[in-house]
Amino acid sequence: MADDTYDPKLPQRCSFCGKPHGQVKRLFSGHESFICNECVMLCGDLLKSAPEIEPTGEIQDIPRPADIKNFLDQYVIGQEGAKRTVSVAVYNHYKRINYRHEHQTRGRLTQSADDVELEKSNILMLGPTGTGKTLIARSLAKFLKVPFTIADATVLTEAGYVGEDVENILVRLFQSSNFNPHKTERGIIYIDELDKISRKDGNPSITLDFSGEVVQQGLLKILEGTVANIPPRGGRKHPEQSFVQIDTTNILFICGGAFDGLEKIIARRMGAKVVGFEVENKSVESKGAEILEHVTPADMIAYGLIPELVGRLPVTAALQPLDEEAMLTILTEPKNALTKQYTKLLEMEDVKLTFEPEALKAAVTIATERGTGARALRSIFERAMLDTLFDIPSRSEIAEVIVTEKTITDGEPPRIITRAEKKAG
Ligand code: ADP
Repeated sequence: MADDTYDPKLPQRCSFCGKPHGQVKRLFSGHESFICNECVMLCGDLLKSAPEIEPTGEIQDIPRPADIKNFLDQYVIGQEGAKRTVSVAVYNHYKRINYRHEHQTRGRLTQSADDVELEKSNILMLGPTGTGKTLIARSLAKFLKVPFTIADATVLTEAGYVGEDVENILVRLFQSSNFNPHKTERGIIYIDELDKISRKDGNPSITLDFSGEVVQQGLLKILEGTVANIPPRGGRKHPEQSFVQIDTTNILFICGGAFDGLEKIIARRMGAKVVGFEVENKSVESKGAEILEHVTPADMIAYGLIPELVGRLPVTAALQPLDEEAMLTILTEPKNALTKQYTKLLEMEDVKLTFEPEALKAAVTIATERGTGARALRSIFERAMLDTLFDIPSRSEIAEVIVTEKTITDGEPPRIITRAEKKAG
């Protein structure tokens, strides 16, 4: 590279920032391009904050399945089977990346007869809404310190239709990795509501069959590993835009969905083949969630997923509905449990917060009635706590706040103990 070479035939401006010769201190010329001293410095800074994971390097210290599960236990209540399955899948996923790396490095020199092709283990999580599917995926990314993004399958379209392109999911992952392609390529993408893009072959009233299948095809492409050209800022592609190349081979995809009605498909198959019980039989209905554990690829295809996509989701984990005890635990135990968060917030105002056990039970009852799993808990508490959170910062006389059953059920203000009352005992 020559420094400050002046060739009158070439336009003398930085090819990166566009500043002309004269507006910058130095302009270095390369092959039909220039870079100014300011852009060199900027690149230097970017290099210093380089990826923690080397571009093609091995991942050191892959956490063991037990370590992964221990971490998940701190945030996700119950769902033992799903947490174990996912922990093993994630461990194998990163081992596979290292194996491929080693294989590729060695492969350039020799090919050995015992080389095994380790396949990618993308995960499919099945289970009712609000039971922890997204939470598991998010917690995994947190533990592994890899970029994470959530996409909703229902807003995806094939390029050209209204909606979001499948590749825009990659753009979001790229953004959450702080625009670092190497980190992006080790990230986790959670695709929610996969069940909503299934083919509804049996149902003539649904006209979206075709687009559902097209979206599945689009997803398949990035799931199985492709090099995608993404517009770094997202949006529609256009010819003048510059692109970033992202290889999706090592991105872990976790798909989730409630798959309503899948139990019946499984029960029908098992019923026919195993015990011959009635599908509409009540005992089958009540075991609906447990039966999801027996799902096979054929059931997923019968539900309306294309076989190729099912083939790319070899790990399935079934989540169970949360019973009242699990919901109570969710309110109090996880590291980020709602009651812990509110208690901490008030502690920062030097106010003690307690929740009467009846208050917690009432919240759980309301949440259960809503049928959206633990998701409803947050909105119930946000409503109940709003006035308190509004008042406390300007009422320094308050020493203690006690949330009662009526606070939750009827919106009554919580019981309050002032500092004077406390002093008087
Ligand atoms: P979904 O299964 O629909 O993806 P989420 O994981 O988004 O449900 O759950 C919604 C919220 O409910 C979570 O953010 C979390 O606060 C709570 N939650 C759901 N399931 C659990 C669980 N098993 N353990 C702890 N919290 C949970």
